[in-house]
Amino acid sequence: MNFEAPITIALSKGRIFKDTLPLLEAAGIRPLEDADKTRKLILETNHENVKLVLIRATDVPTYVQWGAADFGVTGKDVLMEHGGEGLYEPLDLQIAKCEMWVAGYPDADITQRRLRVATKYVKSAHDFFAKRGQQCEMIKLYGSMELAPIVGLADIIVDLVESGNTLKANGLVPLEYMCDISSRLVVNKASWKMKHNDCLGLVDTLSQALKQK
Ligand code: ATP
Ligand code: MG
Repeated sequence: MNFEAPITIALSKGRIFKDTLPLLEAAGIRPLEDADKTRKLILETNHENVKLVLIRATDVPTYVQWGAADFGVTGKDVLMEHGGEGLYEPLDLQIAKCEMWVAGYPDADITQRRLRVATKYVKSAHDFFAKRGQQCEMIKLYGSMELAPIVGLADIIVDLVESGNTLKANGLVPLEYMCDISSRLVVNKASWKMKHNDCLGLVDTLSQALKQK
């Protein structure tokens, strides 16, 4: 497809970039440089009008919300924390799949009254427990959540689980399933209106590419 307006797509390095690349390729978009080998944060592509910006996964909704990027790819976990203001979520890209779980020691009592929860996902965890009328104390962490119950920082954690090996290696188990997670394509609401043909074209092409996977 051809792009009439300039389009910027925000991606994070790592698993999302690796899994998004073949989808972009199927849509005829190829970066001119290897993301793993460059320190550049902006990658030109074979389309003069299409650029990729490489940022932290948690920053993707912010760039798209403010229109600094027209499109972005990021995990549903990140989107739930962000709240989704200023953006649409037109496609589930079915990549970087995992699940969000409550986890802890096998004998942890997750129905106790003042439960202390350590997590990167404060909003998701709060909403999950609030829905069943349970008040929790949230302790915000940025990584290595598994450590929290071990050192007595929290009773349980809320984290992403793929194989469960990291939990197991630390003597913890998944206690309660919360939701499925995968990466989503998001688009800035104003871009969707102002550059409608280009945006719709990209969404359609990616959605075709997904069906052929
Ligand atoms: P960093 O690891 O640099 O601190 P991050 O954790 O935000 O940043 P990634 O580890 O690349 O970045 O995760 C990006 C997204 O990939 C997450 O938001 C989530 O949607 C998904 N993800 C994270 N862990 C897993 C996993 N174990 N299996 C599958 N997908 C995952
Ligand atoms: Mg990570």
